[in-house]
Amino acid sequence: MDVLSKPANELGELILSGAISIVDLIDKVYERIMKLESKVNAIITLRSRSDLLKEAENKEKEIKRGAAKGLLFGVPVAVKDNISTKGIRTTCGSKILENYVPPYDATVVKLLKKEGAIIICKTNMDEFAMGSSTETSYFGPTRNPWDLERVPGGSSGGSAAVLAAGIVPLALGSDTGGSVRCPAAFTATVGLKPTYGLVSRYGLIAYANSLEQIGPMARNVTDVALLLNVISKYDENDGTSIPGSRPDYMYSLSNPYHIKGSLKVGLVVEMMGEGVSDEVRKVILRALDKISGEGIEIEEVSLSSLKYALPAYYIIAMSEASSNLARYDGVRYGFRAKIDGDWNKVYMETRAQGFGLEVKRRIIMGTFALSAGYFDQYYLRALKVRTLILNDFRRAFKKFNVLVGPTMPILPFKIGEKIKDPLAMYMCDIETVSANLAGIPAISIPAGFIGNLPVGLQIMAPPLHEELLLKISKIFEDKIGLRNLIAPL
Ligand code: GLN
Repeated sequence: MDVLSKPANELGELILSGAISIVDLIDKVYERIMKLESKVNAIITLRSRSDLLKEAENKEKEIKRGAAKGLLFGVPVAVKDNISTKGIRTTCGSKILENYVPPYDATVVKLLKKEGAIIICKTNMDEFAMGSSTETSYFGPTRNPWDLERVPGGSSGGSAAVLAAGIVPLALGSDTGGSVRCPAAFTATVGLKPTYGLVSRYGLIAYANSLEQIGPMARNVTDVALLLNVISKYDENDGTSIPGSRPDYMYSLSNPYHIKGSLKVGLVVEMMGEGVSDEVRKVILRALDKISGEGIEIEEVSLSSLKYALPAYYIIAMSEASSNLARYDGVRYGFRAKIDGDWNKVYMETRAQGFGLEVKRRIIMGTFALSAGYFDQYYLRALKVRTLILNDFRRAFKKFNVLVGPTMPILPFKIGEKIKDPLAMYMCDIETVSANLAGIPAISIPAGFIGNLPVGLQIMAPPLHEELLLKISKIFEDKIGLRNLIAPL
C-alpha cells in the first residue's frame, strides 16, 4: 500500500484498524523528506527521527491497549513556522527568531495533538508571512514541486510544497492576504481561509491581526474539512474568536445542504479583468464550463469596490505590521546584535541585522501611514474602503450562494523573477486580499493546468458559511476531476 499518497480521511481509519503501522508510516515520511528536501527546501525545522519514531511507537501501544482515539490519530501533519509549537523552534522565516523556541503551543497545535496528530516539521515561509512566493524567507526559497525553477507561492509555500511533494497529507498555513490560497493554487492543492474568528489565532505570530486566520491545507476538499473540524473551536485566549459551537464540516460534505432552487454562482468580473493572464482566464472558464449545468447557474457579477482592495489591504497590513513587529527589540527574546552602547543603539542594530529587506520596507511604510498628518489620508481611508468592500460582498451574497474567480492572476513564476520588484509581487495578491478585508471564507481548489503549471479556482462564501463552501467545493472538485495530486518528483 502506498501510504504516503493516502488522503488523511482514509489514513486515520486504516491506522486505527491496524491496517497501517504508524511507525512504518512515519519512517516513510522521514525517508521521503530525506530524498526530496534538498531539492524543495520546504522545511525549516524537522523533528529528529528518534523523537518521531518514539512518538509513533507510543501511539501504537495506545492502539494495542485500545486507548487510541482522535480524528487524526497517528496522521502526520506539517505546521507553518509562524505557529507556535512548544519545545520546537518557531522562526517565522526570520533571522530575528532564528533560535526562538516557544514555551507554549498555539491553540491549533493543542487541538492537533488532542486528536492524535503527529507534528512532523515546521514549514518554510516568507519572513513574517510577508510575501507571495516564499522567497523572502531567511532560510532560502522553497521550490515548487511541479517545477523546481518556480516558486510554490507564499507565504505558506513550505506547507503547500510538502503536500504537493507527497510528504504529508495535511498542513497548516496562515492567510493574511492570500497566503493559504496562493500556494494552494500554485501547487494544485486545496487551501481554505476560514471566516475571521472561526479559528483561534492564539499562538500565531502576528503580522496583521485584523486580517489573518490560520487555515487548513490538503490535497483534497474532504481532508480540508477534516482538518477544519479539528482546528475550529471557540478559544477564550483569542479576543476575536467567535463564541459558540462549530458544525461538523465532514458531515455536511456527505449530506444535502439546503439551497432553494438551483445553486447560484457569481463570477466576479473584476477578478477576470486586467492583470489576469490569458492562460489563467482560459483554465478558469474551462473549469466553470465543467461545473455549470443542471442545478448550477453561473452568472457574472460586478463588485466595483474591489478595484481599491489591493492598496487598502497593503496600507492596513503594513500599518498593523509596523505596530506588531515593534516587540522584536533584542531584549525579551530572539536575536540581539552583538554591539555595545545604549538601548537605542542596540535596538536599532538588532532590527537592522535581524529583519530582511521586505520586512523593513513594510515597517517603514506602515509607520508612515500611521503617522500624524497622514493617518487620515492613508489608514483611515483604507478602513473606509474596507467597509465598501464588505458592503459589496453583502449585496452580492443576496443574489449568489457563492462567488468565484481565479485564486492567482498568473501562473507560478520563476524564482527571482519578481523579488526585486515589490509592486509586481504585491500585484499577485489582487484576487485574494478582498476576502481578508471582508473577513469572509475563501478556498482555492485545483482548476486545471497549463503544461505542468497549476491554476487555482477561488470560491468565496458569506461569513460562517464554511459548510456550504466546502460542500460546493467538493461538488466542483468532483466535476473538475482534480484531487489527490502529487507532483512527479
Ligand atoms: N502576499 C500578501 C502579503 O505579503 C499576503 C501574505 C499573507 O497572507 N500572509 O501581505
